[in-house]
Amino acid sequence: MKAALILFYLLFLASPVFSHDEVFTRVCKLMGSRYEISVVASSEEEGVEYIDMAVAEIERIEQLISSWRPDSETSKINEAAGNHSVPVSGELFAFLKRCLQLSKVTSGAFDISYAAMDRIWKFDGSMIQMPAPEEVSASVKNVGYRNIILDEEKQSVFLKKKGMKIGFGAIGKGYSADQAKKLLVNAGVKGGIINASGDLAVWGEQPDGKPWMAGITNPLNKNKVFSWFPIKNRAVVTSGDYEKFVMLDGKRYSHIIDPRTGYPTHGLVSVTVFAPMAELADALSTALFVMGSDAGIDLVQQIDGVDCVMVTTEGEILKSGNIQISHDVSEY
Ligand code: ADP
Ligand code: MG
Repeated sequence: MKAALILFYLLFLASPVFSHDEVFTRVCKLMGSRYEISVVASSEEEGVEYIDMAVAEIERIEQLISSWRPDSETSKINEAAGNHSVPVSGELFAFLKRCLQLSKVTSGAFDISYAAMDRIWKFDGSMIQMPAPEEVSASVKNVGYRNIILDEEKQSVFLKKKGMKIGFGAIGKGYSADQAKKLLVNAGVKGGIINASGDLAVWGEQPDGKPWMAGITNPLNKNKVFSWFPIKNRAVVTSGDYEKFVMLDGKRYSHIIDPRTGYPTHGLVSVTVFAPMAELADALSTALFVMGSDAGIDLVQQIDGVDCVMVTTEGEILKSGNIQISHDVSEY
């Protein structure tokens, strides 16, 4: 009897089924986007406290990297373009350094100076012919990451040309998800998901011991998930081109524009990247869109711990070596 009791007690301790942990979730608007923050906690009070911490961290990052807040460090860099350098915090300097490394790795497909592009393409159906080639090349005259000058000693940033501008639209949400995750992991939170408008940073597992699952939506039918993946301590990010595109000369062009040429990209409707960090996954998902399937998969295969799944305009699914797809888009 005693042995049985002890065994039961041990089972009770060991089994996550009997734990009082639950998942607490909050949806909120941060950095101009929809965030969904989920944490594993043993009471609602604890859950609320953890989520509040994550929200405060994301708001702090917004204050640092937002280019629409006039008082952010980023806005100060943009204001001084072509004029003088701006000393910045260690955090922003390190982030900028990583952004420039990503530009090098992607041969300029990812470029935070994309923000100075002239908006000559319209994706609202009003555009009926290609702009003149001179107009297209002129639209990117102020774009080019090589003109972002970082001074290590002074920890300052200088945008060389007047009219230059930087923006973190393709990487900021990923960075904020990583930072919020890091804060909660350090606070001892066992598991959770920071979902920054589809950019996921995940850690731990669900209270019942099962892994968190992430679904990739079928871009050709947004209400259907075409494959589910178990995610453990990883990030998943999707860049999609579901509605915004333009048809010119019988070709479908996406709203993501190649910062090197000024032309919209074509061929892909969705790119999902799996990586250790959401920041990397976020930047790469945008870059792969620009690079196209062949060069994109080639790059992903060379980076340790990174995988991707792409859907082409024709509905074909392409993937890097380590990914196993459970369903095919054509099933739906
Ligand atoms: P979303 O945030 O819409 O899910 P992405 O992560 O692909 O999608 O980011 C797209 C955003 O990134 C654009 O709205 C723009 O702000 C910015 N961007 C677009 N092209 C580039 C580029 N080539 N390099 C860096 N940033 C880009
Ligand atoms: Mg991105």
